Amino acid sequence: MSDHTVKRTRAGGAVCTACPLLCADIDLPAATRACVHGRAALLAPAAPCSPTHDGRPLAPEAARAAAARLLIGARRVLVTGLGEATLGALAAAGDIAEALGAAIDGGDPAVAITTGPTIARSGEVTAAYDEARDRADLVVAWFIDPDASHPRFRERFLSPRAPVIHVGPSPAGWPCAEIMIPAADEVAAARWLTAHARGKPTVSALAPRLAPLAAALDAAACVGIVMAEPAADGSGVAEWALAEWIRSEAHRRPAFALPLPGGIGMASGNAAGLAAFSTWRYGAPGAIGRADRRGGPFLPAEADALRLIGRGEIDAVLVVGRPRPAIAAALLAAGDRIGCVQVGAETVIPRGIHLPAAGPLDDPGEMLRGDGQLVRIAGRHPAPEVLRLETVLRRLLTALPSAAEARR
Ligand code: SF4
Repeated sequence: MSDHTVKRTRAGGAVCTACPLLCADIDLPAATRACVHGRAALLAPAAPCSPTHDGRPLAPEAARAAAARLLIGARRVLVTGLGEATLGALAAAGDIAEALGAAIDGGDPAVAITTGPTIARSGEVTAAYDEARDRADLVVAWFIDPDASHPRFRERFLSPRAPVIHVGPSPAGWPCAEIMIPAADEVAAARWLTAHARGKPTVSALAPRLAPLAAALDAAACVGIVMAEPAADGSGVAEWALAEWIRSEAHRRPAFALPLPGGIGMASGNAAGLAAFSTWRYGAPGAIGRADRRGGPFLPAEADALRLIGRGEIDAVLVVGRPRPAIAAALLAAGDRIGCVQVGAETVIPRGIHLPAAGPLDDPGEMLRGDGQLVRIAGRHPAPEVLRLETVLRRLLTALPSAAEARR
């Protein structure tokens, strides 16, 4: 149902990239309308920095050549980070991954579970976030508190007239109808609701608690179900059960999932863009064992970044922008075992080679909002001395052949 409307920034405004909602209605310099997290990000000054190698400053040319040598000389490279890169920068990162025969994965938890992205196989009924506001007369927040992970979701995309029922192990931080279900019972709850939607109710100890939700669903004309990305250590069964339930609801009247990927603190502003880019190019949203647009191997729970790092299957990494926190922690724990090239505004791993580039708030380009809507980003502080992420990556790409030649 996504219509891929292009969202433009307000004149003189900015896009906040601190979470996948990509709020494009922000007025600078005061970051008016941003949430507290967005305001903190938008008001933080862009830190100027120069290329470094193990913390020591280096001339840009020398840093680029050293980065190319490190990547070309590695046995196996992982390209990761990526979750805050513009679509243009993702294309450049993919080109580098292909030139190196590298694995590519940005940390989407859906590809780190053994069953892979089960929703893709079982079919997902989704809609643009705007449809939730315009059409849904009932919203279910399923095991997610959007105020904590995507702070302006309710304000921007839910109608105040549509009641919200929150289902989960603990109450949401805002007033709404609550149904407490332990995390361990999520699959059973989704299955009971599926059976109810199909008119074949089953016996379950959860039935009394779920009955008010079932009654609200029976009365609703259009239902939006807000859901988080899969848990990193999950099996995928919960996502499969949830997709089955939403599909069953959609057979009764309009009903759709409203997936909220990533969230605050997850370096995931363009999580949807990364998933789309990787799927367009390599056939899956991540866990690509060898980047090859003619058909690289998709290896869920095998070639995801955390496993490649944890199992010692890579000896070099190209980090594009900030990595997800779990990946950063894994790289820090790996120590000198993995050579690091970081391209972006921050030095997240305090070793290896850092090639500075604009951060997501300052990098002009395009990203996809969590629901797939294209958002154009003008950049917060156009600073000519800070190169775009895509430009730095393209320059690194052009340095690879001479590094390969020098190695021979
Ligand atoms: S909701 Fe997300 S994108 Fe919007 S202002 Fe807050 S952090 Fe930024």
